[in-house]
Amino acid sequence: MSSSPYKRVLLKVSGETFCRRGESGIAMDQVGVLADQIKDVANAGCELAVVTGGGNILRGKQFSEVSASINPPTAHYMGMLATVINGLALRDALENVGVHVRLQSAIPMANVCEPFIKGRCERHLEKGRVVILAAGTGSPFVTTDTAAALRAREIGADAVLKATKVDGIYSEDPLKNPHAQRYETISYKEVLDKGLQVMDATAIHHCMEGNIPIVVFDYQRAGNIARVVAGEPIGTRVGA
Ligand code: UDP
Repeated sequence: MSSSPYKRVLLKVSGETFCRRGESGIAMDQVGVLADQIKDVANAGCELAVVTGGGNILRGKQFSEVSASINPPTAHYMGMLATVINGLALRDALENVGVHVRLQSAIPMANVCEPFIKGRCERHLEKGRVVILAAGTGSPFVTTDTAAALRAREIGADAVLKATKVDGIYSEDPLKNPHAQRYETISYKEVLDKGLQVMDATAIHHCMEGNIPIVVFDYQRAGNIARVVAGEPIGTRVGA
């Protein structure tokens, strides 16, 4: 890892990482696969913060659209709590494979985990602990992609790594058009102008303002997170 271009990275894992394809909820065998990959990165000496999504349990916007009796802000808080549930699962999976890890939440819940405190988060990272950042930003109406971009800026991460089930960014949906082109690199502006489905626009704007590259890659291939951290050219790199 000495050749790694990154000292500190922020890994964004969506809720879909926590369940089997096409299912919802949490499958601990899937969380274990993720934990094994994170362990390799931590052992190689890269400082790693992980922002958890919650879409495998609940997304505020979708839930409030189909549930007339729920207020949209309430639904978003439920979504944030879902990211804490995933954070707890990932924390235990990491501890189970011997990784030193701390869970911090943007919504304080003293009996469950630490609150997010920038300085404390950074001390953990410096000591080689993986830090899971849950509950997004702590405010409704935004996504964990935006939380990932904001936290990356706040803790001075060198890159945002977006773990997905596709191997990068395509000009069109590759499932619909087999001739869709996969980008090796692309600019923030192009992603925004073309409306490519990478992260939401707010997240892209924050990464652009903070000049933080985003790497979109397929985490499902064993070892891919470590490969990205080592600077191997896999997936798509979004930059200036
Ligand atoms: N959420 C929120 N504020 C935040 C982050 C997340 O209100 O700062 C809510 C929002 O409702 C979102 C849900 O939490 O839909 C779960 O996060 P997300 O949809 O980003 O999860 P993912 O798609 O990554 O699984």
